[in-house]
Amino acid sequence: MRIFDEMESEVRGYIRSFPVVFDVARGSEMFDEHGNRYIDFFAGAGVLNYGHNNPRFSEAMIAYLERGGIVHGLDKATVAKRAFLTKFRDTILEPRNLNYKVQFTGPTGTNAVETALKLARMLKRRSNIIAFTNGYHGLTLGSLAVTGNYYYKDESYGSRSNSAFMPFDGFLGEGVDSVDYMRRFLEDGSSGIDLPAAVIVETVQGEGGVNVASIEWLQKLAGLCREFDILLIIDDIQVGNGRTGTFFSFERAGIQPDMVTLSKSIGGGLPMALLLMRPDLDQWKPGEHTGTFRGNNLAFVAATEALGYWENDDLSGAVAHKGEIIRGELQRIADRFPELNASVRGLGMIWGLELPQPGVAGETSAEAFTRGLVIETAGADDQVLKFLPSLLIDEDVLREGLAIVEASLEALVE
Ligand code: PMP
Repeated sequence: MRIFDEMESEVRGYIRSFPVVFDVARGSEMFDEHGNRYIDFFAGAGVLNYGHNNPRFSEAMIAYLERGGIVHGLDKATVAKRAFLTKFRDTILEPRNLNYKVQFTGPTGTNAVETALKLARMLKRRSNIIAFTNGYHGLTLGSLAVTGNYYYKDESYGSRSNSAFMPFDGFLGEGVDSVDYMRRFLEDGSSGIDLPAAVIVETVQGEGGVNVASIEWLQKLAGLCREFDILLIIDDIQVGNGRTGTFFSFERAGIQPDMVTLSKSIGGGLPMALLLMRPDLDQWKPGEHTGTFRGNNLAFVAATEALGYWENDDLSGAVAHKGEIIRGELQRIADRFPELNASVRGLGMIWGLELPQPGVAGETSAEAFTRGLVIETAGADDQVLKFLPSLLIDEDVLREGLAIVEASLEALVE
C-alpha cells in the first residue's frame, strides 16, 4: 500500500476502509491482486446495479472499439448516442408516459445536479433552493450547498448561502408533517426563507442513511411545489436505475418531477450523467452550459445495453424478491442481537441496518471486510450499515454476504 500512502491525497477514504489492492471483478465479486475474493455489497455506491464487467456490456463495447467507433465526440451526433436516446425513449420514457428532454452533462453525478440547479435558477430568476437534512447531492460547490451534512462544509466554501434545509419525511417525529412545516415557512414572510427556484430531493436518501420517503409525503411535496411555482428536482442518481424496483424511484408515488438527475448505473458502470427536464424548461442558449466530457460514446454503448434489462421490465420482480430476502434476513439478525437496538429500513434493493451505538456500524464493516465482504456505512453519524448489492446478484452470493454480516456482528457482540 506504500505508493498509495505516499502519493495519493489524504482524502482517500475507501483505500483506508478496504486496504487491499483490487485487481479483477465480475458480477458481485471482486478479487484483490493475491486472488482473495470479496463479495460486493456496495456496488460502487450504486454504479454497479448490473454488476461488475457485465459481459453483455463488455461484448458490446469491445465490438464497438474493434470497428473503430468514436469514443470521444464532445456532444456531436453519433450513432452510439442515437442508439441510446432511441432506446431510452422507447424503453423507459414512452411506456411510462413521461416526456422529458435529455441533457448530457459532465460524467459524474454532481455535474447533473449542478446543471439542474443552474437551470432552475435561470428559469425562475430566483436563487434559493430548498433541500433536506441528510440529503446528499454531491460535493462540488453548487451541489455541496444543497447537501445536508455539515461534515463536508467549511464556512469558506460559501456553501451555506442560497439554500435552505427542511426536515425530511419522518424527521420531525410521528404526526408532524414536514411538508406542512415547509408551507408555514413559505407563507411566513418573516421566516427569512426566500421563495425558492426549486426543491431538490431524493425519494430514498442513500448517503443520508437509507431514509425512505412515504408515497403520501412525496405527493404532498409535489403538490406544494406546484402550488408555489417551485420546480421539483428528483435526484435519482443513487436510487434510480431500478434500485427501488421501478426504473425511476418516483414511479411508486405517481409523481412527475420537473427535472430528474441520473448518473451512476445509467452508464452500465462507465461514467455518465444526465439531466431530464420537461421539454418547455429547455431554455438554454446553444453552448450556454457545456463541458468537455458530456456523453462518452463508450458509455452510451454500455448504457444502451443496460436499458435492455428494462425491455420487458423483467428486473422489477427480481428486485422485489431479493429485496425481501435482505429485509427478512436483516430483521432476523436485528432480533437475534437485541442488545444492539438495531433497526431495519429500505425499499427494493437498498437497505439499511441502523446500529445506533457509536462506532458499531463501522466496526462491523471493517470486520466484514476481513471475512470477504465489501459493505459501507451511511448516515450522519455513520451509524447505518448500507446494503446496496448489484440487482443481478445471485441469491446464494447474496445469502453468503448476509451470513458474513451476521458472523461479523456475532464476533463484535462477544
Ligand atoms: N446525488 C446522489 C443521490 C448521490 O448518491 C451522489 C453520490 N453518492 C451524488 C448525487 C453525487 O454523485 P457523484 O459522486 O458522482 O458526483
